[in-house]
Amino acid sequence: VSRVIPVETFDLVIFGGTGDLARRKILPGLFRRFRAGQMPPGSRIIGAARSEMDDDGYRQMIREAIAEFGGEEKKDSDGIESFVAQLRYVAIDATGEGGWAQLSKLMRGDVVRAFYFSVAPSLFGALAERLHAHGIADSESRIVVEKPFGRDLATARALNATLAEHFDEQQIYRIDHYLGKETVQNLMAVRFGNVLFEPLWNSHYIDHIQITVAETVGVTGRGAYYDKSGAMRDMVQNHLMQLLCLIAMEPPSTYDADTVRDEKLKVIRALQPVEPHHIVRGQYDASAQGPSYREDAENPRSFTESFLAMKCHIANWRWATVPFYLRTGKRLKARSSEIAVVFKDLGHTIFEGDTARHRNILSIRLQPNEGMDLQVTIKEPGPGGMRLVDVPLDMSFAEALGPDQEAPDAYERLIMDVIRGNQTLFMRGDEVEAAWAWTDPIIEGWEARNDVPKLYDAGSAGPEDAMMLLHREGRRWRDIK
Ligand code: NAD
Repeated sequence: VSRVIPVETFDLVIFGGTGDLARRKILPGLFRRFRAGQMPPGSRIIGAARSEMDDDGYRQMIREAIAEFGGEEKKDSDGIESFVAQLRYVAIDATGEGGWAQLSKLMRGDVVRAFYFSVAPSLFGALAERLHAHGIADSESRIVVEKPFGRDLATARALNATLAEHFDEQQIYRIDHYLGKETVQNLMAVRFGNVLFEPLWNSHYIDHIQITVAETVGVTGRGAYYDKSGAMRDMVQNHLMQLLCLIAMEPPSTYDADTVRDEKLKVIRALQPVEPHHIVRGQYDASAQGPSYREDAENPRSFTESFLAMKCHIANWRWATVPFYLRTGKRLKARSSEIAVVFKDLGHTIFEGDTARHRNILSIRLQPNEGMDLQVTIKEPGPGGMRLVDVPLDMSFAEALGPDQEAPDAYERLIMDVIRGNQTLFMRGDEVEAAWAWTDPIIEGWEARNDVPKLYDAGSAGPEDAMMLLHREGRRWRDIK
């Protein structure tokens, strides 16, 4: 039985089609969908960027990109040839008139039209305007925009307003690739497809939640960009916030895009302002593994955080009293993203001599090995008496998928959702604005106080103060591994 859901024939234009993101993620991802049989014959991918190049030049660039960034599929040379035959290229200037007439001529009227804005956000307005002026986009067309979506509430509002001049909200797909991960959707299946979890999903049974997105890389090479952003803007406002929403939202009445997003929005709006002493900012120090953050950022006086740990509260009936601890950083001990739902201790044990603290923990891993497990307590097997041990109950069944059924990567899945017209896993404009409205005062507070981040060792779990954030409440962070 094929698990591939067919999509309609499409013309997908990738503005910035020669850029890093297009070569590293978008096109190799599209090739995998092509191989899975999800790119209907007659569909076309049109690269549009500044460089002068013809179709063959672009095809060669993408062959090389697949060879460099593809996985197993890069060995399929026949497949690559059939795939690149579906590529076209138009040299275009987002801010001028060059190339637009040619693009207009290339587009067909009877297929799905999608436009991926894989360019700097400062060009979004110019692209939207020209797509319209040249009659290339119609009311059915879709546009895909990349992060960063603004750098604060004011810029996000301005960007939303610019896009809204030419496109309805139903046509705008704001990418957060965390939402495209298999496990993130599995989280919704586990929550809303079982009788077991939802009755316990509240402050009566859950002690706290931890969300960790840890990276081992520093900011080498993109320090100048990152230094103007920091962990709050680069990771928390978008990715961690989205994960928090999916954990905390009320059950939507249907799995419809706006119904789901309405529930996420309510979570963001219920987030309390964060007390300054509930936040730990960090910056990695120089080490054997590499230079310090300040050297990487080429800014010896930088106060930008490369690490952030914080305790958040959602002021609603379900979550009052349950802390949500968020943590993210660069140059940490492992590349690992995990959400852990830590249930409360049993109030009483009937097993004599059992001094260990047993807890149910639902762990949702996004990286490196996507999967989900539930820590449960059972009797230690064997004749040793009534001894208890904690064992993980594997709920990911990744093996059951089989080797040829590899779950699509986040980008592939999301691009296919665009073609299908399904916005469930994309951020709506009001969600993004609400997230900035929560983030802005926190950042403004740091700036007003000239808050200096704490130094931490590369390869560690972050500054000592981040440990204390939990320790002083009798809790501890999950190991980053
Ligand atoms: P890049 O600098 O590698 O590529 C930029 C692309 O835009 C090139 O194809 C270039 O030709 C094109 N371009 C620039 N000016 C143009 C103009 N005036 N008219 C037409 N085309 C023009 O950038 P990138 O890393 O591919 O990133 C693209 C977007 O994706 C950015 O908004 C970035 O923030 C976002 N993003 C990138 C990554 C990543 O991993 N690279 C991850 C997340 C988000």
